Amino acid sequence: MPARILDGLKIRDEIFAELKTEIGKLHGQGIRPGLAAVLVGENPASQIYVKSKIAACEQLGMASWLHAPPASVSTEYMLQLVHDLNADDSVDGILIQLPLPAQVDSKRVLEAVDPAKDVDGFHPVSMGRLVSNRPGLVACTPAGCMEMLRRNAIATEGTNAVVLGRSDIVGKPMALLLLRANATVTICHSKTRNLPEVIRRADILVAAIGKAGFVQADWVKPGAAVIDVGTNKVTDAGEAAQLLRNFPERLEKFRAKGNVLIGDVHPDAVRVAGALSPVPGGVGPMTITMLMSNTVKAARLRRTSNAAVARF
Ligand code: NAP
Repeated sequence: MPARILDGLKIRDEIFAELKTEIGKLHGQGIRPGLAAVLVGENPASQIYVKSKIAACEQLGMASWLHAPPASVSTEYMLQLVHDLNADDSVDGILIQLPLPAQVDSKRVLEAVDPAKDVDGFHPVSMGRLVSNRPGLVACTPAGCMEMLRRNAIATEGTNAVVLGRSDIVGKPMALLLLRANATVTICHSKTRNLPEVIRRADILVAAIGKAGFVQADWVKPGAAVIDVGTNKVTDAGEAAQLLRNFPERLEKFRAKGNVLIGDVHPDAVRVAGALSPVPGGVGPMTITMLMSNTVKAARLRRTSNAAVARF
């Protein structure tokens, strides 16, 4: 039986409906949650991401601002901009779209963001709160994966969870969230030995490595829940034919368009897994959803509570 599909678009719609209610209540208190996006240069992929984030703010009745310095910007300019956004009370969330140009010290810029406005959850203070089980703003992609599990009633407690990938923005926070949810967590990376064997033990598998169709169907434990974070654009006809050998309709679409988005898990895994997040339409929409959710949360915590609570 094919896996249950974990539909990210459906969950996005559910969460957006909840956020609209909460934003309405905040409006009633004279608060309009707001996100400031900083987009440096003219990277086309970054432009699309930022545009969709601003469109989501508008859809939800939130304020948004776009700051778009040129690609030649200096670290000092970026630090001043972040300083100004930190000081602006109407800004609840600050989003620095990555990657920044090579001459900009990305770590310094990200660390300059006020942790109370760190809606991407990348600040070391946000990571520290996650490690030490304190409330705070959590990185959007892993937070979205957890929402996917929760809203599909996929239990985590006592399960073997394997996280494939150990990046600061996905793998590490994902592993910590699963640990917090009482899973027994194994983190795998490029030096892990006997990877297929380790993955075969996973009741829950989260794949985030950036390699199209890397996890083979026979590595997946029958009935496992598989969250596929990978977003890989495949343009090679031979590779697409191999990956989509059992999906003639998708292969036809590839032939018409010249590219296809494939996750880190081979599409054939849909016949083995018990539940699977599709690519596209799975984790992707969840990431933007959690950014909106974090911005509303940041507004609520910073602007509606006393100072002690507002700093979490
Ligand atoms: P990243 O920073 O490049 O990290 C990749 C991780 O995968 C590293 O830990 C690396 O191990 C590991 N890895 C690479 N090759 C491996 C192999 N052959 N076997 C085992 N582990 C391997 O990537 P990322 O930023 O976490 O992103 C991962 C994927 O998720 C990408 O496809 C990205 O596009 C996608 N993504 C999607 C969303 C979304 O919203 N859907 C958001 C963020 C990322 P080492 O540490 O040993 O090098």
